[in-house]
Order: sequence, then C-alpha cells, then structure tokens
Amino acid sequence: MMNDAQRLTEYQRGLAESRRHKLRYRLDLPVFAALHHKFLKPRPSGRGERLEPLDLKLRIWYTVLVKRAFRFRFYPTEEQSVELNRTFGCVRVVWNQTLAERHKTYSTTGKGISYPETDKNLTALKRTPEYNFLSEVSSVPLQQTLRHQAVAFTNFFAKRARYPRFKSRFEKQSATYTGRGFTFRDGNVKLAKMKEPLDVRWSRDVPKDQMPSSVTVSRDATNRWHVSLLFDDDIEPFPWSGNDIGIDLGLKSFAVLSDGTVIDHPNLLRKKEKRLARYQRIMAKRVKGSNRRKKAKQKVARTHASIKDSRKDFLHKTSTDIVRQYDVIAVEDLAVKNMVRNHKLAKSISDSGWGEFRSQLEYKAEWYGKTFVVVDRFYPSSKTCSECGYLLKELSLGTRRWTCPSCRTLHDRDMNAAKNIIAEGHSALRRNSGEARGADVRHMGETPVLSAMKREPIRAGGSG
Ligand SMILES: [Zn+2]
Repeated sequence: MMNDAQRLTEYQRGLAESRRHKLRYRLDLPVFAALHHKFLKPRPSGRGERLEPLDLKLRIWYTVLVKRAFRFRFYPTEEQSVELNRTFGCVRVVWNQTLAERHKTYSTTGKGISYPETDKNLTALKRTPEYNFLSEVSSVPLQQTLRHQAVAFTNFFAKRARYPRFKSRFEKQSATYTGRGFTFRDGNVKLAKMKEPLDVRWSRDVPKDQMPSSVTVSRDATNRWHVSLLFDDDIEPFPWSGNDIGIDLGLKSFAVLSDGTVIDHPNLLRKKEKRLARYQRIMAKRVKGSNRRKKAKQKVARTHASIKDSRKDFLHKTSTDIVRQYDVIAVEDLAVKNMVRNHKLAKSISDSGWGEFRSQLEYKAEWYGKTFVVVDRFYPSSKTCSECGYLLKELSLGTRRWTCPSCRTLHDRDMNAAKNIIAEGHSALRRNSGEARGADVRHMGETPVLSAMKREPIRAGGSG
C-alpha cells in the first residue's frame, strides 16, 4: 500500500503527465477522490464535490481542458457599427501591409519575419502621416492580427495550411480583442473605445465566473454580426453506455449505423435547398446591374448563410448524440479528396458535410472520454458479408440490397457496411493495444485514446 506522501508524488507525476497531454487529473477515481479532500480545494463549480463513492468504478476520471468558443448574434448600435467597421478596415490594412512586407523580405533575402519585427514595423507605420488613422482604433485587434498572421505562417511552413491570402473588404470581416481590449462583467461584453456593452442575444449559457481569453467580433457578407467568446472549459466525460457503433456514409440518407439507425438529412435543410434553387433561377432571369437583380442576389446570399447555419446545427447535434450514446465509434477513412472520381458520391460527401462531421466525432470523442477509430479505407466494408465474412467479387454502387451466396443472409448495403466497420474498428483497437484484450481495453483502466492524441484538444472553433 502507498502512504499519502507516495500517493501525492504519484498524483503529481500523473498531473505532470496529463499536462503534457492537456488532460487534467489523469488518475483513477479512488486515488483522486482520496487526495481531493486532502490536498485540493473544492473547485468553484462544485464539480469536485460531486464525486460519490458509488462512482468508484475502475475507470479513469479526468476532465479535459479545452478552449471552447461560444458564438452569438449581436446587434450593434449605429456608433458601435461605425467603430467596428473602422476597426475591421484597420485590421485589414495591417494584415495586408504585413503580408506584403513578408513577401518582399522573403523574395529579396529568402528570410521570414518574426512577430516582434512585425510589431515594431506596425509602430513605425502608425507614425507615418499616411497611416496615422491606425492609431484611432484600439491597438489590441491590430496586434492580434499580427499574431494570427504569424500563426498562419507557422502553419504554412509546417504544411498544415495553405499560404495566407490578402484580405478583401468584400468577405467576412473580423477583429479579435484580448486582455485589456475588452471587459466581461455581469454578463456584459464591452469592447475598447465603446461606451456601451454589445447587445448580445445569449442563446445559451457561457461558463460562469470566468473571463473569456478572447472576444472576436465579425460581420459576414450578409451583414450579420456575431461575437465569439473563447473560454477555457473543463469537460466531464459522458458515462459509458456499453454500446459501440460503426457508421457508414449513406447515399440516400446522411448516415447508417450498425445498430440499424438511419440518420436522414434534416427536412428543413432540404426545404431550404429547394428555396435556394428557386432564388438562383430567379436571379439568373434578372437583368445584370438592375435593382431587382441586386435584391435577388441578396436573397440567394441570405439563404446560403441560413443553409450553412442549419447544417452546422445538425452536424453538431448529431455528433454529440452519437458520442453520448456510444463508447467506441468506428468510421471509414473516406479520404474525401480522393473520391472525386465518383461524382455522385463526392457531391454527397461534400454537400452533407461528412468531413466536418467526422472531425467533430473525433474531437468530441476525445472531449467526452470515448474512443474514435478510423478503419482503413481499403477495407472492403460494403462487399464483405457481416454474418459469415464472405467477400463478394463486385458490388455496384446502385445495389441497395444483396443476399450472401454463402450464408443466404439478406443485407441492406449500408447497414452491412456499418456492421463491418465496427467489427474492423474493434480489431484495429486490439491490434493497437498490442495484444488480444479486445475492445474492452477501455474498461481495464487504460487510456481510452487511439487516434485522439493525434489531435490537440485545444480547439478554437468547436462548439456544441
Ligand atoms: Zn454470409
């Protein structure tokens, strides 16, 4: 048996380890619960106090620390929109000037520019009479845009992103405020150089008693304003359900699950898409440059934006539901980019946001302590009989149902594929854990993470 001092050492070691993975308290519950009262103060959220002896099962208890964005509509006053539009303009100028400088320096010396250098250049730029209007707005968003550009270049050189582009005033505009650039008090957001707080439509709760680490204000092409608050958030894992699931991308439906569940595209989305098609036809008939065309164009843009929002809601809701309901979630590696050869499939994938859905499943599985596993894309999930393992020579894309020549089972194409995907997911997990301990590896107190560690848990864009 360990004594308390040894336990504490062990705890601290675990903590140090978990920090490396951005996970907190990677310890089993009994140790944690025992130490909690001895060495840790109860946290303001009271979460630490909610641990009950009944919950002392053999599972790792941890919370994942992530950055979570909470995004809301807001309606600026006349004065605020003037100030923000001016700030957007300055952010754009700073971004573009700095980008041009980087181009120039790189082409003449072959070297990059560091963030501190760009900061110094900005100070110099503000002093020139031509650009002293930059001093009229808050300096925080201008500095932030330099930081964003530095990150964009780091990502570009690490081959994670494409080359940063110049910003145009016709696309979405945004400005990020940090530190002294904003205040967040009594549920009100106030930005630098503004007298009044923003009129935010709080559609859901944000973490209480906590300051956001940044506030980003944006205006999209259809003139809608959003404010996005970035919070450090502790996420408690969902309880295990004992059920695992394979997911197959449906052609007619959005997805088919191995337990027989069919997830359809939401009706609302279909209606909106029909409406969009109608507006596009109307727009095409209008004379170019006419007022009626301008109006029709606005309608098209608005419908586009609303479709985007509905799809996002749908994807977030669906992925959270799945991660809540199932412990191991297996999907096929679709390599979306390589599927253009099959136009029907490619369109279906890109239209339905399947790539986004997959990445949501991956990071949410990590947030909530579930396992996400990707099955090799060369694995013939559709052509294999999930009952007896018989492999068909060929299966055309149009065949929705087929009967296995070996065991005579009648298969629904997608559901059979989904069943194979979870079976293959299980064996991938077994292979990965080194020995044949089965998918139950997660119940034995091991790290329930397979591919999850590849992704940084800190995400700016995730929500829901
Ligand atoms: Zn069979």
